[in-house]
Amino acid sequence: MKLRELGEFGLIERLKEILYSSLIGDDTAPVKLGEHTLLLTTDTMNEGVHFLKEWSPESIGWKAISVNVSDVVANGGEPLWALISLSLPPELETKWIERLYIGIKRACEFYKCEVVGGNIAKLEKLSISVALVGKTQRFVGRSGAKPGDSLFVSGTLGDAKAGLELLLMKKENYEPFEAALIERFARPTARIDYVKHIVKYANASMDISDGLVADAHHLAKRSGVKIEIDSSKLPLSKELKLFCEKYNKSPTEYALFGGEDYQLLFTHPKTRWNPFLDMTEIGRVTEGEGVFVDGEKIEPKGWRHF
Ligand SMILES: [Mg+2]
Repeated sequence: MKLRELGEFGLIERLKEILYSSLIGDDTAPVKLGEHTLLLTTDTMNEGVHFLKEWSPESIGWKAISVNVSDVVANGGEPLWALISLSLPPELETKWIERLYIGIKRACEFYKCEVVGGNIAKLEKLSISVALVGKTQRFVGRSGAKPGDSLFVSGTLGDAKAGLELLLMKKENYEPFEAALIERFARPTARIDYVKHIVKYANASMDISDGLVADAHHLAKRSGVKIEIDSSKLPLSKELKLFCEKYNKSPTEYALFGGEDYQLLFTHPKTRWNPFLDMTEIGRVTEGEGVFVDGEKIEPKGWRHF
């Protein structure tokens, strides 16, 4: 069978059978070491797939760290140490790599973690892999959602997809709201401000990298529950609304299916809503299976690797 037919998640299932580890299946792997729970995760960004070489190397470096921190945060952890593996073409300007590392350093300072090593190899195209270790007081994964919980997201949804589309338009001048959307795609910020809330209150949590509906499917499946989303409650930024007006798009579509926002999707009782965080209740967890938007069953449609 070709990888294209099996798909990313089919492949992960096959590999889990070979490796036989119960720790596979969340944003991070929670490993116990004495009294501590460490969170391990890794993520790769490839030229031509996740970024183009002409984009700002500082932003690419920032994002490479942020997407890994996002997974650690989603599981209720704080990042500690990172390893970076680079694959580089020999004719690449060294200045480019230095600028990449300035972005990496800024992100590490922001999230209070440290790059402690890595590896460099030769390849025709650029590839940046980050492996990150974090720690948590209480691991919160995808499998704990309970019927009766409310469903929440942090921040706003759909901005990154709009930002990517704007970036690919390669316009000479962008309006301020367009620049803001591009920034949200190119320099996402992991929601480290949510760690305490997730650890204290969440029954289930993950970050939204593939798109709300696709990721809600993962949560529903792992928790053995049904997830109901009210599309009228989706948090939309004013920038996304302006974008959709200008380009005649549906903001709801962007919020439901756009990926790479790196916001958090989590569940807990309604009463735990925190007015000091930018969280929005967008639906609920009930008995059953699948993901429903406004009462209608909806299949995953988001980012697909293969
Ligand atoms: Mg994730």
